[in-house]
Amino acid sequence: MMASESAQPLQGMSDIASPEIYLWQFLEQRARTSFHQYGYTEVRTPLLERKNVFVRSLGDGTDVVQKEMYAFEDRGGREIALRPEGTAGTIRHLLGKGMEGRNDRVFYMGPMFRCERPQAGRKRQFHQIGVEAASEPNAILDAECIEMQMRLMECWGLSGCELQLNTRGVGEDKQHVVDGLKLALSNTIASMCDDCRSRYDQNTLRILDCKKESCRAIIADLPPVTDFMAEETRAYLQEVTSVLDLYGVVYKLNPLLVRGLDYYEHTVWEITHPSLGAQDALAGGGRYRIQYGKDAFEGVGFAMGVERVCMALTSIGITGEQHKPSMQIALISLGERALKENAVLCRTLRREGFSCIMETTHRSMKAQMRSANRHDVKLALIRGDDELNRGTCLIKQMNEGSQQEVSLDVLIQQLRELTGTDS
Ligand code: AMP
Repeated sequence: MMASESAQPLQGMSDIASPEIYLWQFLEQRARTSFHQYGYTEVRTPLLERKNVFVRSLGDGTDVVQKEMYAFEDRGGREIALRPEGTAGTIRHLLGKGMEGRNDRVFYMGPMFRCERPQAGRKRQFHQIGVEAASEPNAILDAECIEMQMRLMECWGLSGCELQLNTRGVGEDKQHVVDGLKLALSNTIASMCDDCRSRYDQNTLRILDCKKESCRAIIADLPPVTDFMAEETRAYLQEVTSVLDLYGVVYKLNPLLVRGLDYYEHTVWEITHPSLGAQDALAGGGRYRIQYGKDAFEGVGFAMGVERVCMALTSIGITGEQHKPSMQIALISLGERALKENAVLCRTLRREGFSCIMETTHRSMKAQMRSANRHDVKLALIRGDDELNRGTCLIKQMNEGSQQEVSLDVLIQQLRELTGTDS
């Protein structure tokens, strides 16, 4: 096969295949089970939306919209975009359901697209699993959403996750935070980096995100953002944490946690894993209020990056190989006659519920056994002219090497006993 550039996907995008795919399938199946337990139903929104769906949700000034979105005109001159995240399309869907959508709990999973510079943990096509629960501010629901996410990590076997929690405040709090931070930084801003200095007036909160060593020292001395917020806002956060305490969810309050988007209100959180290095965020979440003209949509939700979850799982020794579904039976055909007869037997066994493979061209016994071994089968069923004449079949147990000849009349019953497969 040609291993040229034309065989590769676009930069920043990957094929996900065996054995890695088995881990993905496990993550998705387990997530579906978990979300169902909490009363969430799945929604699959289109990958392409009107560009405006994202602009009006995420805000015109955000990095995702300004710099990262794959946006273009289609053949009809319509402005469309590949979804860079799942919340905007999901809310478009919920808004379309009218009042019913204002009380809905949905989850989604699938690819997202951002035209960023590819690096470890940062891709142009990546995958998210996320949820949205439509609701007015409700501390118990916020805590439940976090608990559901942490429980899912546990079900996936992902130990070592760290949960950081903060509040973005509500209503006037946001302006008070900006004013308070500006005042607190007024003497030190001149010594901070160029980015921080330009953020001072335009996007003060983002200063808290600066990664430069010299800026970090100044930021660490700032008063927590909650100092600038109303008493009720602090009480809301306190209620969220008290419910998390009741659930036994471990968290760390991080007053520097901002989360990029302006629509967040009240609770925001991030889950990190130490194995991920610079891009250590596995997941982010928060409560939001998104304004659509005179109308507003309120809810709470999160999104997790599947690639990063896979990286973190691999770092603690959990791989796709371990989640590979087992193959029960391989049919081995000795001669032309056996090949056709086995094709029919194979169909029967599959219809009886067994997983069963066979080579469909005539090959040596050795080659067929090699292929059976590659698939890790439990049993090989061997038939040549002698067995066909006697109406029997040889069953070879691959792990022990033991072999027995069985009449076709009792074959299925025998296979059920050997594999533990129900009818
Ligand atoms: P965000 O919507 O930016 O809050 O992202 C939520 C989660 O998606 C992050 O915590 C990451 O795990 C994942 N994620 C975001 N952007 C990327 C990317 N470019 N490549 C891989 N994963 C990503």
